[in-house]
Amino acid sequence: MTVRTRFAPSPTGSLHVGGARTALYCLLHAHREGGKFILRIEDTDQARSTEESAVGIVADMKWLGLLWDEGPEAGGELGPYFQSRRLELYHKYIQQLLDENKAYYAWESREELNTMRTAAQAAKRDFVFRDPGYPDADVARYKEEGRTPIVRLRAPDHDQVVRDVVLGDVLMPAEKLEDVVICKADGFPTYHFAVVVDDHFMQISQVLRGQEHLMNTPKHLAIYAALGWEPPKYGHMPLIFSMDGSKMSKRDKAKVARAAARQATKERGEQGYQWLADAIGIEMSELTRFMKKKSDGVALAEAIAQEVGAALPLIDVSDFRKAGYLPEALNNFLALLGWSPGDDREIMTLAEMQELFTVERIGKTNARFDTTKLEWLSGETIRRASIDRLVEAHDDYLGHSDSPLAALSADQRRTLIALYQQRMKTFSDLDRQARFFVAAPTEYDAKAAKKHLLKGDGVANLASIREPLAAATWTPEGIDEAVKTFAESRELGIGKFAQPLRVAMTGSAVSPGIGDTLAFLDRDEVLARINACLAHFAA
Ligand code: GLU
Repeated sequence: MTVRTRFAPSPTGSLHVGGARTALYCLLHAHREGGKFILRIEDTDQARSTEESAVGIVADMKWLGLLWDEGPEAGGELGPYFQSRRLELYHKYIQQLLDENKAYYAWESREELNTMRTAAQAAKRDFVFRDPGYPDADVARYKEEGRTPIVRLRAPDHDQVVRDVVLGDVLMPAEKLEDVVICKADGFPTYHFAVVVDDHFMQISQVLRGQEHLMNTPKHLAIYAALGWEPPKYGHMPLIFSMDGSKMSKRDKAKVARAAARQATKERGEQGYQWLADAIGIEMSELTRFMKKKSDGVALAEAIAQEVGAALPLIDVSDFRKAGYLPEALNNFLALLGWSPGDDREIMTLAEMQELFTVERIGKTNARFDTTKLEWLSGETIRRASIDRLVEAHDDYLGHSDSPLAALSADQRRTLIALYQQRMKTFSDLDRQARFFVAAPTEYDAKAAKKHLLKGDGVANLASIREPLAAATWTPEGIDEAVKTFAESRELGIGKFAQPLRVAMTGSAVSPGIGDTLAFLDRDEVLARINACLAHFAA
C-alpha cells in the first residue's frame, strides 16, 4: 500500500509552529516511504474560516519548502482539496447513516446542551450524550418551534482502542464514548465527520497530528466502523511547550501584550487603560474586552506591543519569516521538536531528515520550544549556506520586514552578507549589527567610548589617522595597509587606531575587520564620521 499522509489545516488563522511541525512530519514520512503528501484545507467552519487565512497558510508552507504532491494549486485525482467543495459527498454518507439508523436527529438547542453539561459537571460526572429517544410529540413540537436538528452517530457499545504508532494502545472505555455530532445545525458536517470521509476517499494511510487530537480519534474510529471503512494508522505527536512551561498557544501573544500593557500603565502612574486606547486609537470597550481576556486579537496585541515597546513571542511561521530566520533552520528545529535521528546529529537538511525520519522515533513526551537553541541552529545554518542562498533568502526577508538594509544596493547587501555570515544568527540580527552601514551613529556606547576614546590617547589617535585614511587606496586591503603602516610609524598596535575608528563608525566597539568596514562606507562618509566623533568628544 502506498504511504499517503496529509496536512489538514483549518483556515481560521495563521500557520503556527505546531501546524508547521505536523506538516513537516507528514511530508518527511510520506517522502521517505516513497509516498505522497497531501494538503487539504478544512474549511467547514463557516463562521471562522477565511480565504485570507487559507492563502496565508499556503504561502507559509511554500516559504518553508514543504511542498505537497496533491492539494490546492498542485491538483490531484482525489480532490477537490477544500472541504467546502465536498459537501455533497459528506451529505451522501450522513444520509446513509441516517437511513441505516446508525445516526439520528438530535433536537437539543445549544443552551439546553450547555445546561446539561453544567449539571453533569456539578454532579462530577462526565457529560456523555446518548440518544434520549425523542417521542414523536416532542419532535413535532420542536419542528413547530422552528428548531433545526443536528445529526449524531450512535456510539459503539464497546471500548475503543486507538493503536497509536507513537503512543502505543490508548483505550477509551465504552461509557465515555458519546454520540458524536456528524452534521451541524447549519447543515455543514462537523470536523469529525469530514475528516473521516476525506481521509478515506483521499486514501490516507497514516494520520500524523498533534496529541490535542488524541481524544478525537475514538470518535473517528466509530465513524469508520459505522461506514464500514478501514481506518488509517494514527500517530499523535507530543505537545509543544513554551520556555515558561505552559503549552505553546496562539494566545501567548495576547498574554504577553496584556502583561506589557499592565506594566506600562503602572510605570506611567495611570489608573486605567484609557491612555492606551487613545494612543492606539481604538474604543476603550475593545481594549477592556482584550484586557479581560474576552478576546485575544493578534492585531491588537501587536498594536499594544508597538505602543509600549514590548516584544511579542514568535509563534506563527510568518513571525519567523519576518524575524529573518531561514526556513531550512526553522524546519530543522521543528523536526527536532519531538523527533531525533537517534544519534547526536542536530543539523540536517530537509533531504537528510527525509532519509532519517521514522515515525517510530517520534517521542512521547512534551517538547520544549527552546528559542536559544533555535537561534543557535539558525546561526549554524547561515554559516553552512552558500552566499547565493543567503542573498536569495535575504531578498525574501526584505519583502517581509522593514529592514534598514533595504536602502542598500543588491551588491552592497551581498558584500554585507558575506562579511556577517560568520557572526549573524538571523537577518534581523544582521539589521542590528550592520545598521551603522546605512546610517551614521547618533550616539556612542558609553563603555566603548570610555575604553577606546576617552581613556589614553584614543581621541588623539582617531584625529591622527584621518590624514593617512584620506590618502589611502580605498579598498579593504589598501585601508588595512594604511592603518598598519601608520600604527607602525607610531610604534603602536593597530588596535589603538582600529578601535577608536570602530567607535566613530558604528557607535560601538564591534564591526567586521576595519578595512572591510571602512571600505564599505564611502571615504567621505568615513572622514565625516571621524569629524563628528571628534566634535562629540572634544566638548
Ligand atoms: N483541521 C484540523 C486541525 O486543524 C485537522 C486535524 C487532523 O489532522 O485531523 O486541527
